[in-house]
Amino acid sequence: MDERGVPYEYLSVRTDITRRMQAEEDLAKQQHLMTMLLRSMEQGYWFIDTQGITREVNPEMCRILGRSEADIVGRNIFAFVDEANARIFRDQMARRARNEKGSYEVELLRPDGSNIAGSICATPIYDTNGERIGSVGMWSDISERRKQEQERETLKNAALVANRAKSEFLASMSHELRTPLNAILGFGHLLQTDPELSADAMENVVEIARAGGHLLALVDDLIDLARIEAGKLDLFMEPVPARPVLVEALGLMKPLAEKAGIRLVDAIELDESLAVQVDLTRFRQVILNFLSNAIKYNKPQGQVDLTCQTLPGRLRVSVSDTGRGIPADKQWRIFNPFDRIGEERGNIQGTGIGLVISKRIVEAMEGRIGFESVEDEGSLFWVEFPLASSAVAPESSAPRGGAAASGTGPGGCGPREVLYVEDDPTNAQLLGKCFAKRGDLTLTLAASAEAGLALARETLPALILMDINLPGMDGFQALQVLKADARTASIPVIAVSANAMQGDRDRGQTAGFLHYLTKPIQVPDLLMLIDKALGASPS
Ligand code: ADP
Repeated sequence: MDERGVPYEYLSVRTDITRRMQAEEDLAKQQHLMTMLLRSMEQGYWFIDTQGITREVNPEMCRILGRSEADIVGRNIFAFVDEANARIFRDQMARRARNEKGSYEVELLRPDGSNIAGSICATPIYDTNGERIGSVGMWSDISERRKQEQERETLKNAALVANRAKSEFLASMSHELRTPLNAILGFGHLLQTDPELSADAMENVVEIARAGGHLLALVDDLIDLARIEAGKLDLFMEPVPARPVLVEALGLMKPLAEKAGIRLVDAIELDESLAVQVDLTRFRQVILNFLSNAIKYNKPQGQVDLTCQTLPGRLRVSVSDTGRGIPADKQWRIFNPFDRIGEERGNIQGTGIGLVISKRIVEAMEGRIGFESVEDEGSLFWVEFPLASSAVAPESSAPRGGAAASGTGPGGCGPREVLYVEDDPTNAQLLGKCFAKRGDLTLTLAASAEAGLALARETLPALILMDINLPGMDGFQALQVLKADARTASIPVIAVSANAMQGDRDRGQTAGFLHYLTKPIQVPDLLMLIDKALGASPS
């Protein structure tokens, strides 16, 4: 400028801002993209500062909270939760302050008073200087999942209650059905030993016993299946040497095979000590089911083979027969409960649930079951069980836990006294009649545990037969009293109960009964057990 202040020259400084403008444009684009992303996201987005004040939310978060953006931003997150969930927030904020990421579940309060459950994935956020400025939470609505979980829990609880009721019902039904059956079968057996019975009457009695036996098998199977269906299968898994059990099963089936004219072939070929990890009773039950079917559905002069094969880590037991086989188009029905595949019209006895029970049992024992069959040629049923980790020394396959039979009771010589504690007059009468035929035994009856205990102390019988369900003190309590008294502690006690569930038997054996017999009593079996317990030769 000159002295009059008129500019005579211009000096200009130019700065190229293209890059800055480009950067601003890029930033605006990024921000727009970010906004679009947050708006379209199916998850809720929630940005809070280090004090817990909400700085930003996306529309989904507003929907979740049931509030407008203006109603959320600027407010502390503790405004949206109750005290229990505030504790979760506090804990999580402390973690963010330690620069930790984290996922957690929390319930938010909505203005209408309802709750909404969500899972949050939270991350601390830093500025360009590395200063923590807050945290971002990504929210997923899990209220539907929670609702389903609650419904499942309610259903599970209802099923548990129903199962308990079912199992109690089964236990009592088992008892109620077995008690009268005991009388039918017991008196039937008794009549069969009557030499004065006419041939005609004997035929009728045999028929009663046969039908009663069938009814008993049906009751047992039904109760067993119902227990399994109710998830009440109690298994006692242990290493069981396979060979003795299989040999025993063949022995048990021998009379049935002989009657049907079927050749039973022992092709077991197993090392005595080879053990499988199974429940002994249930293992035996499956093999007996296979063997009895192979005999029942065989042809005249047919053959049944029991074979074994050791596979890696497993033992396969197979029962093959030369019977009528199962038609290919019906084989899918084989494990259907109550489906006898047409046999319901035939004259072979059965319930149609043996195989389904076997399948459930085998699977519960982590085994496998299967079959092959060719119509008119025969069938082969097999099971596989895991080998026990260490081979154990063979042991008797007799029921577990039973006390050893003691010798003669304290009764001394002469007819030995057996005390029967039983409140049911029919059962008492039945046993009374059986004992009347035995000159070497006398039977004393007591109608309650209390009366039985008094008699036991007074007469010191050689053996006690104890019913379990008694008025007042029950059979288990009575046994404890007997064992606690030095005078009666050594008297062998056999439980005779209509409670036939496996749990009852196990409990009986653990309690210290010499045997646990279930009603209906097979009179010859009972007498044999008594003789064994008294150390006498069976008469
Ligand atoms: P049940 O023998 O009491 O009828 P199962 O469940 O043991 O019941 O068997 C179901 C059905 O499968 C039998 O009724 C029979 O028709 C068929 N079945 C089972 N085993 C054999 C077999 N070895 N040979 C031919 N058919 C068989």
